[in-house]
Amino acid sequence: MKQDPLLDLVEKRMQTGIISRDGFLGGDKRRLIEILMADEAEMNRLGIDHQQIAETLQHLLDAGKPGLGTEVEVDGKFLVNVETVRGKLPCPWPGDGLFPKTNVRVKRIDTGEEIVYTAMGVHLIRKHGFYEGKGSYFRLEPAKLKEFLDIQE
Ligand SMILES: [Zn+2]
Repeated sequence: MKQDPLLDLVEKRMQTGIISRDGFLGGDKRRLIEILMADEAEMNRLGIDHQQIAETLQHLLDAGKPGLGTEVEVDGKFLVNVETVRGKLPCPWPGDGLFPKTNVRVKRIDTGEEIVYTAMGVHLIRKHGFYEGKGSYFRLEPAKLKEFLDIQE
């Protein structure tokens, strides 16, 4: 599938070692446009939107931040650990500014399941509908997120 030159540029910036050591695509061989469209279709199938996911992830990040790297119980349902290291990263889409290197680990108290994401990851979902490439360490599967975060249609 053809993609516009902006996405070509963004895709280049997502490769390993450009913005971050591991990049954003994992071993995913699809073009960026295909990754975006597949996740868009999946969200439609699930009946939820990127904003709902991003808002919930942001809420957990904000609630866990005061713990400064220790676990914080949130909403009686999650244990959240938020750590920020020095430095900032630019979004792969040009012109979106810099993001703190904030890593978030969230554990469901009832099932023990965990997800990990970053402050940048929340932005990528909210603004770009991007969940990273398959095989990327920070890849988030929309269907899993919906269940894990208890997001209602
Ligand atoms: Zn951006």
